[in-house]
Amino acid sequence: MTKKKLATVWLGGCSGCHMSLLDIDERILDVAKLADIVKCPIVDGKEFPECDIALVEGSVTSDEHLREIKHIRKNAKTVIAFGDCAVMTNVTGMRNYFPLKEVFDAAYVNAVSNDGAGQVPDHPALLKLHDKVVPLQEVVNVDFVIPGCPPDADTIFYVLFEFLNDRIPNLSEAKKLKYG
Ligand code: SF4
Repeated sequence: MTKKKLATVWLGGCSGCHMSLLDIDERILDVAKLADIVKCPIVDGKEFPECDIALVEGSVTSDEHLREIKHIRKNAKTVIAFGDCAVMTNVTGMRNYFPLKEVFDAAYVNAVSNDGAGQVPDHPALLKLHDKVVPLQEVVNVDFVIPGCPPDADTIFYVLFEFLNDRIPNLSEAKKLKYG
């Protein structure tokens, strides 16, 4: 069987889903037999390459994330929403209950600081945050979801292994359909 190309990326997430991916431990060798990892947070590639499977952690919070997920959608045959933030915004979406200005003020202006009152930073390199955080499927078609915060390593490995062997995983049959 030809090796597949696997990419992983995180948008508006805490990296916990990727930490859980690392918890598949030595099973990464089984993945490596079936796939080349062409992009991940520690692969220093500027462009997101064409791939068979993209595991996408986190939700869409900014102009940059929106551009990124659209680019990923064009370049990945299978897009998997990886973890509850990608599936339904979860922790990242908690700020949706407040106007964006209040969120910035809480983080920068009203936060306790040794330097006195802060100010909202203004730099072109900073993300242009959207008023509301949205899950992946609100802006692109998603082919599969792995719920959980984070999903456990067994579930992640199960899903990856099934896709890498050209099978569609069945989370409910595998008793792995678990949010939170
Ligand atoms: S689903 Fe949980 S572990 Fe994953 S990015 Fe969101 S908060 Fe972090």
